[in-house]
Amino acid sequence: MIDLNNIETAFKIKSDKDLKNAKFLFSMIKSPLMVRFLGFMSNLALKMRLPIDWAVKPTLYRHFVGGETIDECFPTMNRMFTENVRSVLDFSIEAVEKESEIDKTFQELKRSVINSGEHEAIPFSVFKPTALTTHDVLKKVSFNIPLTSKEQTSYDNFVQRIDALCAEAVKAGKPIMIDAEDYWFQKAIDDVTEDMMLKYNKETAVVYATLQMYRHDRLAYLRYLIKFSKQHGIITGIKYVRGAYMEKERARALEGGYPSPIYPTKKDTDNAFNEALRISVENCDVIHFFCGTHNDESIRALMKYMKDKELPNNFPNIYMSQLYGMSDNLSFNLAKAGYNVAKYLPYGKVKNVLPYLVRRAEENSSIAGQTTRELIMLKQELKRRKFLTNQ
Ligand SMILES: Cc1cc2nc3c(=O)[nH]c(=O)nc-3n(C[C@H](O)[C@H](O)[C@H](O)COP(=O)(O)OP(=O)(O)OC[C@H]3O[C@@H](n4cnc5c(N)ncnc54)[C@H](O)[C@@H]3O)c2cc1C
Repeated sequence: MIDLNNIETAFKIKSDKDLKNAKFLFSMIKSPLMVRFLGFMSNLALKMRLPIDWAVKPTLYRHFVGGETIDECFPTMNRMFTENVRSVLDFSIEAVEKESEIDKTFQELKRSVINSGEHEAIPFSVFKPTALTTHDVLKKVSFNIPLTSKEQTSYDNFVQRIDALCAEAVKAGKPIMIDAEDYWFQKAIDDVTEDMMLKYNKETAVVYATLQMYRHDRLAYLRYLIKFSKQHGIITGIKYVRGAYMEKERARALEGGYPSPIYPTKKDTDNAFNEALRISVENCDVIHFFCGTHNDESIRALMKYMKDKELPNNFPNIYMSQLYGMSDNLSFNLAKAGYNVAKYLPYGKVKNVLPYLVRRAEENSSIAGQTTRELIMLKQELKRRKFLTNQ
């Protein structure tokens, strides 16, 4: 088994300044009170259009984001690629509702897909489907509620734009992942994703669905997708994540008086996540997959399943991934051991990235032990470097 905690490998491409910035940041977001304050301030700043770039850019933004544009991400992307860690450039934009803004987003996503074809360091492109139509439309389609004619046009445009992005991914020769978000919208997104897989996944997995394994219906959906693949002679592409909207989903279910779609305990989610990995390795003839997690037990489980099945570490149809700014110990040690690794590298303007940054801060303050683990490793590496320079 490889050492996933080798700190020298983990932070090889980081300068002392980067590490000190990260140490400061993780010390701050360790406090749930500070994170709540950050969430409050960022909502206020967005509502009142306050300029907060000066505070966010040198801190959270610098740590978790690649830059404002694709070009600004290149230095980070190239630095990571020197250690065989690839990048998935993730255009950050949340809740656009106006048609003109949706079209601008679509054009940027298209650029991002084309860009993936031009760089060896970018193995996939990705997009958030909720950026391509309104929330109302996705919710209505998911629950079979009739659309107005304006909404029908928005939905038709949504499908056409997704189709165009997938066609562009075929031209680029790189697969494309469709992110998952709220439970309310997911049925509409799953249906379109299946149609795209039928159209584009005949020889290889071009289109990847995202399965949030905190949902208690996802193992059944995975089994359905395997049958679906075999029945239609296609390869299913899947990105596995645990899911980022647990509190919101539970609160909404309570408010709406329907059963929560989320497993009741973390252990249930962990078991489902690892079981999905096991099933996918077992069915790797019809499933290509991308495992997005910072959980080292899940990573170890996946390595074991691959070994048991006698798959090489660099088996081309399995990728492991962490978010930029988190768990470099996993990304860089896995890449060193020959596994396919890519980090999600978000890019966009501060105001568009803010909700993502707040989610990262919340996640890091709520994941038991995650911040502490990051902090311990950062401190150890700074100490190790100081010791070397003093010698
Ligand atoms: C490359 C990448 C891509 C991603 N893309 C998406 C995406 O498209 N959509 C999306 O929603 N998220 C996405 N995420 C975020 C992801 O869903 C998780 O929020 C995040 O990665 C933390 O989970 P973990 O497996 O890394 O770590 P862990 O610390 O092991 O797990 C934390 C997660 O466990 C679950 N959990 C925690 N407590 C409980 C509980 N009491 N009961 C049930 N479940 C619980 C929650 O999902 C929580 O986020 C992505 C993450 C990565 C690394």
